[in-house]
Amino acid sequence: MPQIDLRTTVFLSSVMSALMSVVLLSAYYSFPRTIKGIGYWVTGLLILVVTPVLFWLRGIVPDWLSIVVGNALLLGAIGLWTLAIQAFYGRPQTRGLAAGLTAVATLLLAWFALAAPNYVARVIIATFFVSIFYTMQCVLMLRHGERHFSTYFFGGLMAAQTLVVMARFGTSLFAGLAEQTLFAPDDLIQTLYLSANTFMVLALSVAFMLVITRRLHVELDILSRTDPLTQLLNRRALYDAGQRELERMQVDGEEMALLLIDLDHFKRVNDSLGHAEGDRVLKEFSAMLKRELPAHAYPGRFGGEEFLVLLPRTGMDGALALAERLRSMSARFFGRRIAELTISIGVACLDKTETRLDGAIGRADRALYRAKSAGRNRVEAVMEAA
Ligand code: GH3
Ligand code: MG
Ligand code: MG
Repeated sequence: MPQIDLRTTVFLSSVMSALMSVVLLSAYYSFPRTIKGIGYWVTGLLILVVTPVLFWLRGIVPDWLSIVVGNALLLGAIGLWTLAIQAFYGRPQTRGLAAGLTAVATLLLAWFALAAPNYVARVIIATFFVSIFYTMQCVLMLRHGERHFSTYFFGGLMAAQTLVVMARFGTSLFAGLAEQTLFAPDDLIQTLYLSANTFMVLALSVAFMLVITRRLHVELDILSRTDPLTQLLNRRALYDAGQRELERMQVDGEEMALLLIDLDHFKRVNDSLGHAEGDRVLKEFSAMLKRELPAHAYPGRFGGEEFLVLLPRTGMDGALALAERLRSMSARFFGRRIAELTISIGVACLDKTETRLDGAIGRADRALYRAKSAGRNRVEAVMEAA
């Protein structure tokens, strides 16, 4: 087998950690605080810059430093990575458990380094505790990971790393390795183990970066489609959803309706109760819409105090019944808070020949205008494309 210089391998691991620390530290400062766990990961990485140097100096610096402190730092860093993944998936962070496992492992390692020196016992202890941390990370990803390439990549690497550490544990337990040392040149498993560790610092950190970047992408996508005040779809998202549903409608031959809802005399709410109270009414009305509409409906804020609801798989009769229910509910709903706040609704259906939403929105707008002229607190419909 071609020789791999294990001291160099271990030293390279420090360089990898330093490089990835720069990448993740910049993510830590630039990503929104809603994406959790980056701080733990970076702290782990920074510790992993120092740790390999201590291992590298085995035999040169005292054993308590290279073995005991080195392994304590290694376990602490992997414990921090476990906390990072817990935080990232919004799970409770078991700091006490991570610190406890690290402390117990360190005490045992100190015993077999200083009181009763035994290399194999130390490998067994270190790999056993590291396996626990990695297994916890794998389980978290299996349970909470998004079904996406980034998770498969991260999870796959983590599983591979767990297996390598477990293999090291198994071989130490069952094969007689009593004569071995950290940098034994002919030990295939040890070569694999140390090389995998070096490679994995880089690979796992790149994978973590992929996973947090994917989360950032999802969060920004949601933000770009959500109205900040009401948390309903914004106008752009409504048009996107409408276009998608229209295309489906052409294929399935299904119907689609839409409701244009406008709060009556809303200016008066602002004028008499203030803009903040007006905002609150808009929020409460939006929450009510979300609650009352069927799951396949798309409620959105079209602008100001005007709302558009897309109703896929719904014909004129169904849309009219739903609009009437919303109108009567709103009268009761607002009645409790603000006397006489009502809504008017214009209803329109999409023609099977239509390929865009605009025509139907125009008809719903005309129907809404009719409802307003007829005294408000009403539902009106404009039937077909002219
Ligand atoms: P109509 O029955 O004819 O619809 O009367 P209206 O007063 O509701 O209609 P108008 O278009 O004259 O006024 C709409 C009001 O909605 C004016 C504007 O200040 C208010 N408005 C629009 N967006 C917001 C918002 O985000 N927050 C608050 N508080 N008010 C808003
Ligand atoms: Mg209005
Ligand atoms: Mg209006």
